[in-house]
Parts: sequence; C-alpha cells; structure tokens
Amino acid sequence: MPSIFTKIINGDIPCYKIAEDEDNFAFLDINPNAKGHTLCVPKKEVDRLMDLDEASYMKLMTFSRKVGKAIEAAVPCNRVGMSVIGLEVPHVHVHLIPLHSMKNATFQHKEKMSPEEFEKIAGQIRAYLK
Ligand code: AMP
Repeated sequence: MPSIFTKIINGDIPCYKIAEDEDNFAFLDINPNAKGHTLCVPKKEVDRLMDLDEASYMKLMTFSRKVGKAIEAAVPCNRVGMSVIGLEVPHVHVHLIPLHSMKNATFQHKEKMSPEEFEKIAGQIRAYLK
C-alpha cells in the first residue's frame, strides 16, 4: 500500500505544496513544530534515510537546502533546522523547521495554524523559490 506521502505526491491527498522537482517533493507539515515547518520527500518510496542510494540521498539534500534557504528568507526565525526522524511515516522525509528556540526542535511543542495561515505561509515560501 502506498505511504501517505506517496498519496500526497500523487495528488490523492491534499497538501500545502511548496516545491517539486523530478525526484523530490516539499509540502508543509500538517502538525508543525513552528510556522513554516516543511517536509522534503523523495518521490521514490524508501522507508529509511540510510537505505537511500547515494545519488538519491544527495539529490534530497540539495533539494532540501534550496527549500530551506527559501524558508529562511520567508519566515522570521533564528535559522532553519533539519531533522530526519521517520518513526511515524515510513517514507523518508527531511523536516525543515524554523527555529526560534530549542523548543521548536523537540517535536513536543506544536503550533496551531488555520488553513488560511497554512496557505499564506506556503505562498510566502514559494515566492522565494521563483
Ligand atoms: P516522523 O515520521 O516521526 O518524522 O513524523 C511524520 C511527520 O509527518 C509528522 O511531523 C506529521 O505531522 C507529518 N504528517 C503526517 N501526515 C501528514 C500529512 N497528511 N500532511 C502533512 N504532514 C503530515
């Protein structure tokens, strides 16, 4: 069965899309640690980061860097942090998290956002990717 992220990539489940290239897809995390928290996902469905072949790993990191720089430009924050966890969704994803303090890196504190806020921040990040 396809992962929830494959369903998002295929357009079967909605998301707040940020960017896409041939190999990777980025969208806002629905339960964000901070406003602008984004996931970068390889289109190829692989569970564990360390199981990606080297070329796919490097492409994911290059893509994540590009998206992370756009987040840093669009979202006021100290810096963008990067985590790979994967304990909930077994499809590799890089968390890009605008950090204001260590609290945003813990996955314990969650930010409530309205659909309008998600749309707005997604548009602001996308504007820096043009
Ligand atoms: P983890 O697998 O522990 O790295 O966490 C999975 C992440 O995916 C969590 O931060 C979730 O909030 C996020 N997530 C799960 N389902 C969706 C979805 N449909 N759209 C956006 N983010 C999601």
